[in-house]
Order: sequence, then C-alpha cells, then structure tokens
Amino acid sequence: MNDTSSALLGPAEIRDLAGRLGVRPTKTLGQNFLHDGGTVRKIVRTAGLRPGERVVEVGPGLGSLTLGLVEAGASVVAIEIDPVLAGQIADTVRTRVPGADFEVVLSDALDVTTLPGEPPTALVANLPYNVAVPVLLTMLQRFASLERVLVMVQAEVADRIAAVPGSKIYGIPSVKAAWYASARRAGTIGRNVFWPAPNVDSALVYLERRDPPSTTASREQVFAVVDAAFAQRRKTLRAALSGVFGSGAAAEDALRAARVDPGARGETLVVEQFARIAEQLPDLPDTAGTGVTPASGIAEQEGDE
Ligand code: SAM
Repeated sequence: MNDTSSALLGPAEIRDLAGRLGVRPTKTLGQNFLHDGGTVRKIVRTAGLRPGERVVEVGPGLGSLTLGLVEAGASVVAIEIDPVLAGQIADTVRTRVPGADFEVVLSDALDVTTLPGEPPTALVANLPYNVAVPVLLTMLQRFASLERVLVMVQAEVADRIAAVPGSKIYGIPSVKAAWYASARRAGTIGRNVFWPAPNVDSALVYLERRDPPSTTASREQVFAVVDAAFAQRRKTLRAALSGVFGSGAAAEDALRAARVDPGARGETLVVEQFARIAEQLPDLPDTAGTGVTPASGIAEQEGDE
C-alpha cells in the first residue's frame, strides 16, 4: 500500500530515498525496510504509547517506523549503526513531520550505555534479525527505565522469546527474557511489507517489564547457569551443570538444595528455579576487587544459543 495520505513512506518513497542515498540494503546489517503504512500503524497501535512518551528505536533505517512513532506524538531517540542512514534520518523526519521530537545516535546499539534526553520508557523497533536477541536483552539490561518493548523479529525468534517451559523451543532467549519481563507474541507480519522481502516470516513480540526473581544470586550467575544448562540440551541438569559446580556430585547436591530434580532438563525450568540453582554457586573470592566474582563473569554472551 502506498501511503500518500500521511507522512509514512510507501514503496516508491523507500526506493527513491534509497536511490538518492546510494543505499543498497545489506544482509549483514539486517536491512529490510518497511514500506507499508498499514503495518507501521499496526506496530504503533500495538505498542500502546502514551502521548509524548519517550521511545527508543533501534535501527530506524530510512525512517519507516520512526515516522509512524513521531506522527503518533512519541518523543523518539533512535540508534542507527549505518552512517549514511543515520546522517539522513533527522532530515527525513523533520521534512515529513514538522516539529517532531526526534534525535539520532550513530552507534552499534550493543555499544550504547547512555542515551540523550529523558530516559526512554518504551523500546519499539523492527530489529536487525542477526542481532535481535542480544540487542533486546542488552537494552533491557542497560535501560532500567524501559517498561515496555514491542519488537519485530524473525517469527521463529519471536516464538523462542515467548516460549514457556516444556516446549521444544524454550531455551536461552526465553529464560533470559523472562528475567526482565513477561513476553507474548503480538501478531505476524508478512514478507511483502519489506524491501527487500526477507526469506523468513516475521512476528511482533510484546514484553512488559517485571521485577526479576527475588534471589541472592547475581544476574550474571543466573545467566551462567542458564547458558550451561542449555549448552547441551539433551543432557540432564546434573551432567550439564557439572562444569559450573566442579563435578557431577557437586551439581547434584546443588540441584537438590535448590529443590530441582537432578535428572530434569533445562527446558523444563522457570527462571526462578535457575535463580535458586545459581544461589548454590560457591562464593569465589573477589580477587580483582571489582565486585564481580569469577563465577559471575562466566557468561556475557547473552542471547547466544
Ligand atoms: N526501522 C526500519 C524499518 O522498519 O524499515 C529499518 C529496520 S531494518 C530491519 C534494521 C535496521 O537496523 C537497519 O537500518 C540497520 O542499518 C540497523 N542496524 C543493524 N545492526 C544494528 C546495530 N547493531 N545497532 C543499531 N542499528 C543496527
């Protein structure tokens, strides 16, 4: 659908803008641009933004979703890794939505630790597919102000983020996302609303921040246990966690102390159970005086699976 009645970008405008900038979408940066106003409106509507709400968008690209967000009255800060796109986006937004409250940060979203302006309360984005899970988890970790998230990701990834224990696709992204938020699928998106059309289906995931499990273990310790539990999915927890606890016997003791069956597999556990297991990790000396114990430093590859 070509959206000539509003500020939104239709197929002709997307091609024209990309042509003028010499942009040739790359797979490496997950560049599939939305060119359907109906889809943009659906995303903005589903995000349920409050008037004037501060929103962070990762990867504004040519501005398709950004325009929908500012048109709806959001105050948007966008993070874009591609210098050509980052250099153009403010101009596109101000030309098409005069008076829009918008700023852009040229950076890899994984490197951003602070954002200008008011702290964002919502993340709304059509995420680059190859880094969608790490970007999502990193944003939730670094920006405690985020209350809600609506992201478009590969349909299969959306399923994994929103999966519940006991299902085959329940894994590292499901448990780590559950540390921060409750997640649910919020709709499917067809392939032909993008240029270029990706060869996988897409879906929306809606996450609502909640308190992490109440535990004496650190997030890093819990995530280290999660990474180990899913490293070899077919192994029992006793076997999978033997490395983390030093031996199979020690893992078994830790699991029993955490009231978890040592013969169970990681895919049956909720995040609170992983937290109870992490509480059994030995207190290792803080040799570097950093406040980070060796055990808590094990896992920083969030989202890897
Ligand atoms: N939001 C636009 C849309 O819906 O049409 C573009 C979405 S496109 C799927 C992903 C965007 O993320 C691209 O603009 C790409 O350059 C950008 N990107 C890729 N990796 C990134 C990263 N690590 N940090 C920030 N932006 C990134």
